[in-house]
Amino acid sequence: MSNDTERNQRHKRAMQRKKALVDERIAAADIDKGLMVVLTGNGKGKSSSAFGMLARSVGHGLRCGVVQFIKGQWECGEQLLFDSHPLVEFHVMNTGFTWETQDREADITAAKSTWTHASALLKDPDVDVVLLDELTYMLTYGYLDAEEVLSCLKQRPAGQHVIITGRNANAALIEMADTVSEIQDTKHAFNQGIRVQKGIDY
Ligand code: ATP
Ligand code: MG
Repeated sequence: MSNDTERNQRHKRAMQRKKALVDERIAAADIDKGLMVVLTGNGKGKSSSAFGMLARSVGHGLRCGVVQFIKGQWECGEQLLFDSHPLVEFHVMNTGFTWETQDREADITAAKSTWTHASALLKDPDVDVVLLDELTYMLTYGYLDAEEVLSCLKQRPAGQHVIITGRNANAALIEMADTVSEIQDTKHAFNQGIRVQKGIDY
């Protein structure tokens, strides 16, 4: 038998074993529920991943709500795309980054008024997916009451998915979530003096 034939046969046997294991795990996962997904860490990819899930959801005809807790300096493409979409309700906090406003009281007022949209979405059983972009900072800075946020998340409709992004997600959020990804900052173009790029960064 040639080396190639032997290698191909070994590969086929390994793949058969792998498929049996994967199929077994797929068959065992038979629970459906509204998921809580937390995307945190210092690397790039939290909000863009969250909006990727929103795109999937909209593609499937699910009703979605987005609340962005920090308004960036640049108008982001995801807002331009989804703002007027009939399946998406989109709210953006009307202040900039916290280090730009430099006004704690004004930030707290804005955070609380923005939270009213989130809490309404989290009570609406007709909303399938809720994306709370950059929510973690509202808890880290103490702009929102953590107990209230956590209880709202816990009491949301059983089938409703919620996606939360932002660095330094607090321990209670991580504990409550079903899926948590911590995105590592291995390398970022910005640190090489490259300015933000349309489509990639916003
Ligand atoms: P994205 O929206 O691109 O998925 P993100 O949500 O993970 O990024 P944020 O902390 O919300 O990250 O920052 C948003 C902006 O900051 C984006 O323009 C992104 O490219 C940039 N950014 C994200 N991570 C880093 C980093 N580690 N260094 C420098 N800039 C970053
Ligand atoms: Mg983000």
